[in-house]
Amino acid sequence: MTLGIYIQVPFCQTKCTYCNFRTGVVSPDRFEPYSEAVCREIAETVAANAPVVDSMYFGGGTPSLLNPAALRKIIDSIRVSYQVDSAEITLEADPETITPEKACAWHAAGFNRISLGAQSFSDTELQAAGRMHRRADILRAAEILRTAGFDNISMDLIAGLAHQSRASWEDSVTALLGIRPLHISIYMLEIDEGSRLGKESLAGGSRYSAAKIPPDDTIAEFYESACARLAAAGYEHYEISNWALPGSRSRHNLKYWRREPYLGFGAGASSACGNSRELISRASSRPTEKSSMNASPISAAESPDCGCRASLSSTARASDSRPIASQYQTKSSSNYLAKPPALYYFQPSRFGKI
Ligand code: SF4
Repeated sequence: MTLGIYIQVPFCQTKCTYCNFRTGVVSPDRFEPYSEAVCREIAETVAANAPVVDSMYFGGGTPSLLNPAALRKIIDSIRVSYQVDSAEITLEADPETITPEKACAWHAAGFNRISLGAQSFSDTELQAAGRMHRRADILRAAEILRTAGFDNISMDLIAGLAHQSRASWEDSVTALLGIRPLHISIYMLEIDEGSRLGKESLAGGSRYSAAKIPPDDTIAEFYESACARLAAAGYEHYEISNWALPGSRSRHNLKYWRREPYLGFGAGASSACGNSRELISRASSRPTEKSSMNASPISAAESPDCGCRASLSSTARASDSRPIASQYQTKSSSNYLAKPPALYYFQPSRFGKI
């Protein structure tokens, strides 16, 4: 058995309209103290006889906002405290944060996989969702990453964004396939009730284009169309939201779905081992509070029951647990309509965006 390590970076440049994750838009002055705190946490919580680490995943939030030197320091801290062998090391990156210098520095630091948050190739949809990047940024970022030496790139799309039409969805899928990343994630929009878009959906208004979100049936058709097109392009559908070219499945996220052990470091990260999953409740889980940066971790174990429920819901997602088709209700099913696929859109960094 091997071990995965997840690093949570809870900072974003802006808040997407549909998102209510525990991430903050803070001054860049806070980035370094935060990464130092993560390094301390890694050094203080090293587990005796820990299995060999074969995956690291830096998610968020937007970890690509951190200085590459700080990211490197975190990787080095892990290498000092744990035995690391041939690890898949992934960094989530937003297209507009990528420069040739940063991409080269990430590669030199040891990252060998980038999860590029595209979400859509429609500027109208990106703008409405509160994203800072545009179509041109995605195309430019993919080129920069490949030039810097990253062959292993994952990209994502979200079905159900405001203003999305059949034509714009098919255009986004075409653009994505044109880049041909090794790995693709396709999510269906889930609107958090507490988000700006969620509040507008409930209370009305037009600021965030809540009325322009496609109906559930249309979103399901987008997903099914993408399934067919990705299969035709040679991608293996190995998890509800994830496709990969042969040999390119995400090693790290397969651990979540197979219920294999992983350790999480950083604000609000969780860890799992066997039937117990640990929610790390730290002062530092409030990323916007300065006092959090020097806090020690305080952990609270979930009950085994919770662990089992999490296990059932996560392991059922992967194609090697049972066929994708049998996990996924058909469009005509009332169950499907009662529980639209949006339910499968988890926090990207934890279960989705890989
Ligand atoms: S969706 Fe991601 S990038 Fe957008 S605010 Fe939420 S955590 Fe940040």
